[in-house]
Amino acid sequence: MSFGKISSIIQERNVKMADCAYHTLRELENGGKIRALVLKGESKAHIEFICPKCGNYEYKTQDWGKASKAAKYRFETKCSKCGGDIKIEKLKGGKKKKKE
Ligand SMILES: [Zn+2]
Repeated sequence: MSFGKISSIIQERNVKMADCAYHTLRELENGGKIRALVLKGESKAHIEFICPKCGNYEYKTQDWGKASKAAKYRFETKCSKCGGDIKIEKLKGGKKKKKE
């Protein structure tokens, strides 16, 4: 399965890092992975993933809100094929990338 929907959005719209309110790419168990992109000024997240439970590839948009401070997960989504929840943990603090 191709995993390039968000890459093509970035290319088509010429998205720069400065245009992103949130962007993550995570490896999941069982060869799954997930990428999420939120553009500044948009209230929807673009999410694509390979489900770690059933291997389904899916791209979708969903409402994006602020995570509460107490929440363990930054966001979660659901596989429409197997119904499994995919939860993305917050990155532990202080892991900012240096500008080079
Ligand atoms: Zn699934």
